[in-house]
Amino acid sequence: MTTQVPFSQFIERVRERVRSAFADPAIDQGSRGMTPEFLSPILETEPLSVFIPSLYGGRGQDTGECLSLLEACSYESLAFSLTMGINGALFLQPVSRYAAESVQADVFPRFLSENALGGLMITEPDYGSDALQMRTRFRSVDGGFHLQGTKHWGGLTGQADYWLLTARGESERGDLERAISFFIWDRSLGGIDVEEYFDNLGLYPIPYGRNRIDTIIPEERRFAPQTSGVRMLLDLLHRSRLQFPGMAMGYLKRLLDEGIAHCQSRLVGGRPLSEYDQVQDRLADLQAAFTTCSAMCAYTTEVATIDHDCSNDALPANSIKSVVTDLMQSTAQSLLQLVGAKGYRLDHIAGRSVVDSRPFQIFEGSNDILYQQIAEAVLKSMNKVKETNLARFLSSFDLTNRVADHFTSLLSFSIDTGTAQRKMVDLGRILGRVISMQMVVDLGARGFRNDLVQNCLTLMKRDVVNLLGSFSDAGAPTVVEDYEENGDWLACRS
Ligand SMILES: Cc1cc2nc3c(=O)[nH]c(=O)nc-3n(C[C@H](O)[C@H](O)[C@H](O)COP(=O)(O)OP(=O)(O)OC[C@H]3O[C@@H](n4cnc5c(N)ncnc54)[C@H](O)[C@@H]3O)c2cc1C
Repeated sequence: MTTQVPFSQFIERVRERVRSAFADPAIDQGSRGMTPEFLSPILETEPLSVFIPSLYGGRGQDTGECLSLLEACSYESLAFSLTMGINGALFLQPVSRYAAESVQADVFPRFLSENALGGLMITEPDYGSDALQMRTRFRSVDGGFHLQGTKHWGGLTGQADYWLLTARGESERGDLERAISFFIWDRSLGGIDVEEYFDNLGLYPIPYGRNRIDTIIPEERRFAPQTSGVRMLLDLLHRSRLQFPGMAMGYLKRLLDEGIAHCQSRLVGGRPLSEYDQVQDRLADLQAAFTTCSAMCAYTTEVATIDHDCSNDALPANSIKSVVTDLMQSTAQSLLQLVGAKGYRLDHIAGRSVVDSRPFQIFEGSNDILYQQIAEAVLKSMNKVKETNLARFLSSFDLTNRVADHFTSLLSFSIDTGTAQRKMVDLGRILGRVISMQMVVDLGARGFRNDLVQNCLTLMKRDVVNLLGSFSDAGAPTVVEDYEENGDWLACRS
């Protein structure tokens, strides 16, 4: 039992198995999904025990252990870390918070001893970002609830033994209630059919597709919200977003290690790449991403304990998720630039990382939307305390007050309530980075290497200054849809 093993020993065992499983680059290159034979040596080490309460044989849901597990996996494979993240944050943690005890007692042991896997289905073909409008419905019937609908892009499609399904209650007249309800499905219930498997661009080990749902779920398998269904959904989503840095941590460290090693050994013009100033700028950026992510892990470990309701943590959760996933993508792009053509091979980690990290900016809240929500939340807080000057507000706001002095003159302006959406997104990008900077300052105060902290703050401040350029630019062009009329360069020759 892994619960009796010290964490250092437990994580070393998991790391070793994941490393050896993913040592063959073919796993990430073309073949889709993961066979039970492939997964079994890893799952034998009970990696998911970190997400399971000790009462049911798990390691007790210590947030630091959960993030370390995700980190150890993502150093070897981002896709496998996401597989663990899906199981942990989108299935096991919500089950431990909201499912009946009898259901927990039934479900958890299967993840420890039978290699069971779980996932979450929210998204539908017609409802993604506006998931609250979902059409999957349920009615009470003899023996439980009858769910019907179509879901797509659920990670581990066709492979998961358990699904957390989301649906809206249907009235006699056929209207759907506003609230979202959650149900735990398992294979023995039947009624989830994969209509199509998708050829996903990256993350090859994870199967995705479209599922037709027509199933009856026993009554006790419905989550009991302690408050409202929306609050439960927010708790689930915010907790998951707060844990993204776990998946990012090992991945960013790996890209930093790869970048440094490559630039030390690759000679161009008779000297190592690392001696070029522009290369140093890129490597420093990679390292700043590592430092920022470390700070986010420390923040989450403290804040997102399993007994804490995360439904009110929109601002830190949305900032962490959007900023760290932007860093994941920009780091991959930068490493690919440094590695050059060799990095463009499918079996090279640089090119693969570009496609594997890209959807992190899309799923669990598209970053464009999250940035807008960050700006809206800050403006709402400013209104509440009747403060119009952004810099002044940030200097007394608890998520930014220890870093606000970097921005006293830069952010000393007021913002209209009617600000255009594109500007709100720019502002959200700025605020997300300022909030992240404070996490870095706090990490420094706890003894993290000062040179890493200072380099990181310098580069993050540069990011904020660049974003301010876009925010304050008055241009607001819109697309010209009939652009082909007088839009032919050949016809414009003199
Ligand atoms: C690899 C991958 C894994 C996934 N895993 C899961 C999973 O496990 N479970 C699950 O349920 N779903 C999953 N999803 C689905 C994912 O959550 C949705 O793709 C996401 O919510 C966006 O929905 P959509 O794709 O329908 O895009 P849309 O809702 O059509 O949005 C597309 C884009 O339009 C823009 N946009 C949308 N609304 C606005 C707005 N109000 N203002 C400005 N711009 C806007 C944004 O740029 C947005 O990215 C996954 C998706 C991918 C790619």
